[in-house]
Amino acid sequence: MKKLTYLIAVIIITSCTQRNIETPSSFDFLEMFQKVQWVDLTHSFDENTVYWPTNVSFTHDTVSYGLTDKGYFYSSFKYSAEEHGGTHFDAPIHFSANKNTIEKVPLSKLKGPGVVVNVSEKALKDPDYLISVEDFETWEARHGQIPDGAIVLVYTGYGQYYHDSEKYLGTNLTGPEAVPELHFPGLSAEAAKWLTEKRNIHGIGLDTPSIDYGQSKDFIVHQILCDNNLTIYENITNLEKLPEKGSYIIALPMKIKGGSGAPLRIVAMIYK
Ligand SMILES: [Zn+2]
Repeated sequence: MKKLTYLIAVIIITSCTQRNIETPSSFDFLEMFQKVQWVDLTHSFDENTVYWPTNVSFTHDTVSYGLTDKGYFYSSFKYSAEEHGGTHFDAPIHFSANKNTIEKVPLSKLKGPGVVVNVSEKALKDPDYLISVEDFETWEARHGQIPDGAIVLVYTGYGQYYHDSEKYLGTNLTGPEAVPELHFPGLSAEAAKWLTEKRNIHGIGLDTPSIDYGQSKDFIVHQILCDNNLTIYENITNLEKLPEKGSYIIALPMKIKGGSGAPLRIVAMIYK
């Protein structure tokens, strides 16, 4: 009997000890999330969502809405969208043959420490502004080298104009005649090369319609970034709410098999 009591005591103590080993880590995890503030960097999708002038707009139509004959409420809608519109994700295959389609981009590449580069003072004065190597070097002079696996987000200030085509895209025109009239800032080819050759980032995004500036004819920045397996986030917003350093970014596109791009929910975590 004494032996059995001893055995039971050992089992209880052992199981408590095991629980104690597990409890602190899960507790820390919960505590960490309670201390985090989330910032949504995503525009809502609706009839005013920004698309390339030659693309078709987002549609969202009612299938059912109201009280059913069984007495409960039921709503359901259907939507259609081009891959590359609104807040969206570019997979490497967008401009580089045989590179990853959306579902093949590993989850590990869809997150990383946020590096927020503020070029708004210069970009708001010049709709054809090209984000330069110097802009990134200025950030590094203040915060140290861009960390490996970073998600780089460039704040141009154009997100505030999202619903004003003339200011956001540079034109109110739509269709093919709008394309030569596009004016908005983007990344320079030199900066794209520098980021891919000298740094080791996961992806880059900005608050304009494209990572190539509006007047680009060859989309060279898309080519360079996609050739190097980077992911791109366009038409993002709320970057003014992030610190230049210290956020953590999660960028999850709709998992379209074979997709070259998709609507994106991109969020930032900041410690309170
Ligand atoms: Zn795109």
